[in-house]
Amino acid sequence: LASSDAAPGRTIVDVRGVKVGGKALALIAGPCGVESREQLFTVARYVAESGARLLRAGAFKPRTSPYAFQGMGVEALELLDEARREFDLGIVTEATEVETFDEVERVADLIQIGARNMQNFALLRRAGRSGKPVLLKRGTAATLEEWLYAAEYVLSEGNRNVILCERGIRTWSAHARNTLDVSVIPAAKALTHLPVIADPSHATGRRDLVVPCARAAVAAGADGILVETHCQPSCALSDGPQALLPLDFIQMVGQVTAIRELL
Ligand code: PEP
Ligand code: MN
Repeated sequence: LASSDAAPGRTIVDVRGVKVGGKALALIAGPCGVESREQLFTVARYVAESGARLLRAGAFKPRTSPYAFQGMGVEALELLDEARREFDLGIVTEATEVETFDEVERVADLIQIGARNMQNFALLRRAGRSGKPVLLKRGTAATLEEWLYAAEYVLSEGNRNVILCERGIRTWSAHARNTLDVSVIPAAKALTHLPVIADPSHATGRRDLVVPCARAAVAAGADGILVETHCQPSCALSDGPQALLPLDFIQMVGQVTAIRELL
């Protein structure tokens, strides 16, 4: 079902009116996690002003350490619901387990499945029975084939609205958190009709590398960019070092939009 041969043309996934995989670049931005109403709303305001229509923020955070900030859970979902109404933004947030999927599904306009859960088959099947579109991140050690089979789990349950997201893979390169696999973007687009976006924030883990990698991903044909941004990165409860400052984020939007228009 994920294969290019299985569809007449490219799939365009509609996320609350934003057409992902269409001519225009899709922009998804926001903090790593919801930390407070003030934090979320400050970021949401400049995300909306930048022209981006989709706000991301985790309510349930899949953290490497069990002692790290795990997200505000249901309380965060309520704040995201409020932010959607206040700023007219679509909400992108992660479902980390089957047990809390229903709550996430109720609020999300696009349900994220994180890199660590790319082969959580029960979660993929549950996402496949959802009426909401799914953002499927590539696992940190997944081949393109494994990533597409993960998408197949969602598609084969009946949900045809899947967006793939390259978010960096584990290599021996030690200067960055992960390595953005730029070539997988056109390679994936050749094999599948699904939209492919890139997340240069988790791919690099470094604020100074995020914008150059965003530009590279768009030049390589990414249908959208997902980035983390925070108004006070030094105080962020997760992923502060990779969060773009508001002005850098707004500048990036101008640059990636211009690159998309050249293609
Ligand atoms: C995130 O988007 O905040 C996240 C945890 O992403 P990933 O699953 O790519 O690490
Ligand atoms: Mn994050």
